[in-house]
Amino acid sequence: MTGGTRTGIGWDSHRLTPGAPLILGGVTLTHPDGLGLDGHSDADVLTHAVIDALLGAAGLGDIGEHFPDTDEAFRGADSLALLRESVVRAAAVGWRPVHIDTTVMMERPKLKEHRAVMRSRLAAAVGLEDGEVNIKASTGEGIGFVGREEGVAALAVVTVTPVA
Ligand SMILES: [Zn+2]
Repeated sequence: MTGGTRTGIGWDSHRLTPGAPLILGGVTLTHPDGLGLDGHSDADVLTHAVIDALLGAAGLGDIGEHFPDTDEAFRGADSLALLRESVVRAAAVGWRPVHIDTTVMMERPKLKEHRAVMRSRLAAAVGLEDGEVNIKASTGEGIGFVGREEGVAALAVVTVTPVA
């Protein structure tokens, strides 16, 4: 079926570990205790959730199928580059993103001062205006793996429309 829009959902989480970089939406943040995200690529949990949502909307499976963590090519990979490649793959099957909404679940640091830059970087990676990308912040209220600062999680919803 062609025409109309589709939506996809994405979820990701990564472990917080001492000494690793904390990259969200392509922006490196500083955690007050020096914690960062552990993963095969750059562990950008927010960008990974957006990639999964985009692939989902385009009916292309998930991030693990496209960029397997067993592949040395993706060790330390820039997740924004993987997002740009996902946009190309979605376009190849007839879909382009028109709107992105996200929620980052992280106890510290506060996202507020970084949110505008993260939004711009995600928007640029998928070819949208800043106003077509939204980033919300949520904490774990001290409970669960987010609240105990064992990890950071992110959710994304991406809406796609047929490539003109
Ligand atoms: Zn991930």
